[in-house]
Amino acid sequence: MNQHFGQHFLQIPGPSAVPDRVLRAISMPVIDHRGPEFADLANMVLAGIKRIFKTESPVLIFPGSGTGAWESAVVNLLAEGDRVLMVETGHFATQWRKLTEKMGIETEFIAGNWRNWADPEQIRARLAADTGHKIKAVMVVHNETSSGVVSPIKAIREAIDSEIHPALLLVDAISSLGSLNYEHDAWGADVTVTCSQKGLMLPPGLAFVALSPRAIEQARTGGSRRSYWDWAEMIELNRTGFFPYTPATNLLYGLKEAIALLEEEGLANVFARHDRLAAAARAAVRSWGLEILCENEAAHSSVLTAVVMPEGHDSDMFRRHVLAKYNLSLGQGLTRLKGKIFRIGHLGQCNELVLMGTLSGIEMGLRDLQVPHVSRGVSAAMSCL
Ligand SMILES: *Cc1c(COP(=O)(O)O)cnc(C)c1O
Repeated sequence: MNQHFGQHFLQIPGPSAVPDRVLRAISMPVIDHRGPEFADLANMVLAGIKRIFKTESPVLIFPGSGTGAWESAVVNLLAEGDRVLMVETGHFATQWRKLTEKMGIETEFIAGNWRNWADPEQIRARLAADTGHKIKAVMVVHNETSSGVVSPIKAIREAIDSEIHPALLLVDAISSLGSLNYEHDAWGADVTVTCSQKGLMLPPGLAFVALSPRAIEQARTGGSRRSYWDWAEMIELNRTGFFPYTPATNLLYGLKEAIALLEEEGLANVFARHDRLAAAARAAVRSWGLEILCENEAAHSSVLTAVVMPEGHDSDMFRRHVLAKYNLSLGQGLTRLKGKIFRIGHLGQCNELVLMGTLSGIEMGLRDLQVPHVSRGVSAAMSCL
């Protein structure tokens, strides 16, 4: 057994480290979720989270994981036999397809190599061919956490509109909201989903769904049978600061604090900090002589950097080593990338010195395991910062 001292470095791209202020807020006593004190809390976080999504429409908060938020979008808007269009940006886009297929929704999947974004032009061409308007929704992942690639949501909306196609735009902003600029209303998303444990710096347990007036209207008359995930009842009760069933009270205390943290720093500054740290991480990777998985210069993620392990070296063995020796958790390669890449999370409360500690752990690990590299990544990152 390895004995670890001091701070654990949780540098995976979610769950992200939870700031002390948020942890303290969560440790409050549980209150009556049907009492007046609760309504004050609920009204505050329901208003606050709208500012983070940049929307005037309701944002719903379900107890659940990000996958639950996805499922709520599907059951409120789509029914068996409906058709949707997705793009294979990586593991999470593939998971989303699995979910719709299980529910009997015909899913067209534009193939991808897990190293590039969802191309608006490919989406436009596919919609142009759909003259009968059978495609009910375009569903894309904003920040593909498995690969470190960001897709251009606004341009995808413009592609849909340029074909005068009625498809709704459903976006997974699970690992981007609160870390990368995201504008639900201005970019024309109909549904944006996220969860608590990534850019919002909370423990896992909350699922968020931002809606558009059109999505609310379509859900009223359409979708599948549903109960737990039903939007209408949630919207109705939220108006007075209450929920149809027991909300995750203490996580909402944490959410109030997380929103305060983001707004005290200022969202624009939060995004700029993520960009700055990501640029330094990429400088380190390039100086090591290793390859970044994202192959589109315009699509690099500021949430995480996915690093390709040199041929003949297993990234999971590397991850096990840096965890055992340096108490540093790095993200693994998911499904088809297993053993081939590791992911450096630089989101949430990450700052310059946390990043430098992380990069130092990686550089020492590369040296320990004699992975071919140039030991100059850390100093390149320092120069960049
Ligand atoms: C983490 C993540 C998910 C899954 O969220 P869960 O909370 O594990 O259900 C989905 N999509 C993206 C892009 C993610 O980063």
